[in-house]
Parts: sequence; structure tokens; C-alpha cells
Amino acid sequence: MRHLLDQSPEQLDAWLVDQRAPRYRAAQIRRWIFDKTVAAFEQMTDLGKSLRARLAEDFCLWTTRVVRHKVADDGTEKLLLELSDGARIECVLLRDDKDHRTLCLSSQVGCAMGCVFCASGLDGLARNLTTGEIIEEMLQLKRLLPEGQRVTHLVVMGMGEPLLNLDRLLPALDAATRPDGLAISARRITISTVGIPKGIRHLADLDCQYHLAVSLHAPTDELRSRIVPTNRAIGIEAILQAADYYFERTGRRVMFEYILLAGINDHPEHARRLASLLKGRPALVNLIPYNPVAGLPYRTPRPLVTKRFGEILEAAGLSVATRWRKGDRIDAACGQLRRSAPT
Ligand code: SAH
Repeated sequence: MRHLLDQSPEQLDAWLVDQRAPRYRAAQIRRWIFDKTVAAFEQMTDLGKSLRARLAEDFCLWTTRVVRHKVADDGTEKLLLELSDGARIECVLLRDDKDHRTLCLSSQVGCAMGCVFCASGLDGLARNLTTGEIIEEMLQLKRLLPEGQRVTHLVVMGMGEPLLNLDRLLPALDAATRPDGLAISARRITISTVGIPKGIRHLADLDCQYHLAVSLHAPTDELRSRIVPTNRAIGIEAILQAADYYFERTGRRVMFEYILLAGINDHPEHARRLASLLKGRPALVNLIPYNPVAGLPYRTPRPLVTKRFGEILEAAGLSVATRWRKGDRIDAACGQLRRSAPT
């Protein structure tokens, strides 16, 4: 059966025309889905009974099931969702003191990139998520908010490499930004990539307003290739050039993410090299102290080391933000809940 959330607005319009139903029904249906997140077509009470029945004949509405729901002291909530084929993905709702409510979404089941410190890739890639499944992540998380509270931000920083599933991700982000969708401003949406120059350029050419984050994690090819294996075939220079192009085309400053792994890439010399690599670029640096993954041999640097690293970058004129951990007690980071959950 077709997934309603996989249908583009044009496809839903066309279906309504086939049913000889008026166009304005589309807006009603979308309001039930995106505002009310109703559980079933039956509950769309301002539609006629027969239209509700025909919707239920032709489409399914929910294909995911919440198998775990964890809540942390800091307000972070994490869902483990089971998909129709039994695969499992994670998504997270983050709250902060600025009253931001941010959704963190997965784009694939697992990941093929193989970054050595990341839990999502430990079992490789199973498949891409569909547009409908990505929208369901948004809606399942939105359901956790009290009525009337809006989602303010969205980041594609969960499991998977979003630039390798752009064809399905972009229509889902379209639903996130549409006024009759979740109405999140495109400028409050960030796509994080391991750094795929072709994908970055493609995204830049689409002229969308999304922010781009690039997981750089090391200032030299020698080191980056050790911790981010996809670097071997690509190299930092090609990624930086694509990032520069992204800025030229969109006017959006690119964010460079830098995970800090104790004793591996957290030495002051690494900070100095990173500073000279990014000098003169309209870049933001996001430092991410490593979030321990069970079974992996890496360690989180001491806070002072992280602070010092950031100070060296700042002294060189870069804008730096440090992502102090949120939700780590509920395995909210990076593909860990999926691995810890009983099957
Ligand atoms: N594939 C994309 C998006 C998913 S990961 C990418 O590589 O950017 C989102 C961010 O979390 C990336 O910067 C990733 O490197 C980082 N990350 C992965 N595992 C982590 C861990 N154990 N601790 C801290 N950050 C991690």
C-alpha cells in the first residue's frame, strides 16, 4: 500500500481530483497530519466518511512504531523507531534554554561511511530511508511536544549520510518547511555531511536556504583518512573547495564539525593546523567532545583540553562553538540506542 507521507503535494492533489473531491481537502488532510498528528484517517472528522474510507483503502498513514522512548534530565528525548520491514532507526528531540526545540533526524538505516568513532556505521548500511519515513521521524518527535508548541529547528545529524539520500531527504525537508507542513524556516535546518564534494555542489546549485555542516574532524589528510575512511578517495582540499562553493552560491557560512578524540586529534598542534587550514574562510567551527560508544577504544578529552583547543581557534579569528553533550545518559548520541536495545 502507498504511504501517504510519500506523496508529494501534487500527487495528493491529483488523487483528490480522481476522487472528485474538492482541492481544499488537501489542506484539511495536511492540517490533521502536521498540526494534529492524528493516528488514523478515521479521526479526520471534517472529511466526509466516504473520503476517509477511500484514503484508508489507498494509503497507509503510519508505518513506524515507537519501540523505545527515553527521556533525559536535560529535556532531551530519544525515540527508537521500528520501520515496516523491522529495521530500526533513532531520532531525537533536543530542548535548550533559548526555547529552541530541535529535531535530529536519521537519513539512512545504518551508514556506509565507516567513521571509526561512530556507532551508526558499525553494522554498515542497510538501506535508505524513504521520504515518508523521514517525515514520520519529524511527526513522531513533534507528538512529544505539548499542543501548541512548535518545532523551531531541525538537524539531519542522526544515522546515515544525508547527501547519499538527497532524493528522498529533500522532499521531506520540503514538508518540514512548508507553511502547511511543520513551517520550520529553511534557515533553521542544517544538513551534516561526512564531506562529499559532488553532493555539496549539487545542494548548493539547488538554491535552498539550508545550512551545511561538514564533519572535518582532522586538519591533515593523513589523520583524517585514519578516522574518516572516505577521506582516502576524496581528500580535505576537495571538500574545502566544495564548501567554498556552497558559501559562494548560498551566502551561508559553512559549519565545520570537529569531534575531539583524546590523544588522537586534540593536541594544540592540531588546533593550530586547523586554524591555518580554515583561515580566511567564512567558517564556523563546532567542537564535539567524543561521546563514548560501548566497545570502541576512544576517550573523551578533559574539558580543559577542549577549552584550550577552542581558544587556539578563536585566537586565530575563527568562530567556535562547543557542543557540550546532551542526552548521553540516554544513549542519545550517534546510533547508540539502536545498538543497546534488545531485539
Ligand atoms: N553522516 C553525517 C551525519 C551524521 S553524524 C556526517 O558525517 O556528518 C553527525 C555528527 O556526529 C558527525 O559530525 C559525526 O562525525 C558525529 N559523531 C559520530 N559519532 C560520534 C560520537 N561517538 N561522538 C561524538 N560525535 C559523533
